[in-house]
Amino acid sequence: MSLKQKLIDHIKDNGPMSVAEFMAACLYDPKHGYYATRPSIGGESADFITAPEASQMFGELIGLWCAHEWEVLGKPAFNWIELGPGRGVLMQDAQRATRGIEAMHENSNIVLIEMSAPLREEQAERIENAEWAERLEDAPPGPSLIIANEFLDCLPIRQFVKGEDGWHEKLVGLSEADQLTFGLSQALPGESEDEPGAVREIAPALESVIYEIERRLHEAPGRALLIDYGYVAPEGADTLQALQNHKSVDPLKTPGEADLTAHVDFARVAHLAQEAGLAVHGPMPQARFLRALGIEMRAEALARANPQHAERLQREVTRLIGRDQMGALFKVICLSSPGLPPPAGF
Ligand code: SAH
Repeated sequence: MSLKQKLIDHIKDNGPMSVAEFMAACLYDPKHGYYATRPSIGGESADFITAPEASQMFGELIGLWCAHEWEVLGKPAFNWIELGPGRGVLMQDAQRATRGIEAMHENSNIVLIEMSAPLREEQAERIENAEWAERLEDAPPGPSLIIANEFLDCLPIRQFVKGEDGWHEKLVGLSEADQLTFGLSQALPGESEDEPGAVREIAPALESVIYEIERRLHEAPGRALLIDYGYVAPEGADTLQALQNHKSVDPLKTPGEADLTAHVDFARVAHLAQEAGLAVHGPMPQARFLRALGIEMRAEALARANPQHAERLQREVTRLIGRDQMGALFKVICLSSPGLPPPAGF
């Protein structure tokens, strides 16, 4: 039975589901979910491309950032944790760029938080000496450097829509012809100034991840560097997006076959971390962060060593920091244990 039919039957028996439940089924259903069955990241034939897939310089610079922050922590034995490593390219590039810093590698315990079996296999091919965990909670205790690129956007969101008579939760239900369709709950209590038509999104699973980062960074020193596309001030828009073969598709049409994501509410992430007593740096645009880490100098050095690649390297820099590419929509935020100096690049 297809996931679509399974969802239709589920709604027939139990009534409409929240957008978060729908997203979770599409992404994580063990038999039909996108990440369990057909995650496709990277090349031309893939569904979407990410920064580490676009250029090796991304993972290299983040690797050097981690080396610097490991020194700031006093060079301890530490967990080098990546959330949602995809094909493992970022960590592979980070390991290569820091190979000369032997003491860092001797002291690092690489922990990859990944629930997708096919992606774990790909990660194992690229990353040396890694261990895996399903959830951040399951990573060993101790000092940590946590990195995540395009992980938070996968976490399921609930959506609320302002109507003339107040807020309604957006739900996935059935049309008269028993096809999946969006609908609204009855009006919920609560006032706000938003115009009718405004959409608000909350991400309970993202809040749990931030909570777990807080717990870990209070227990032992460390930092979390989180990179994703998202907003600093909510615009009241619907940010749920389904991508297949680099094209935007109807999220209800082929459940489990497209990648589903939502924009990250960075103001909320910053607020939660601040309330919990962590130091927060950013969010700031990816372009500013990568420039501060010296991406342009890195590209020039690589181009001098390999002049035949100069054009490609320039294209990659533009891809990562161009205002109309990944440079502005993508944001970087760093959460740190209290008492540490500001992280590099901020
Ligand atoms: N960081 C990679 C991949 C981004 S795609 C890159 O930049 O290319 C999102 C990744 O997060 C995938 O590896 C996916 O399997 C993983 N993922 C998504 N939701 C997850 C969850 N709830 N728990 C663990 N891993 C998850």
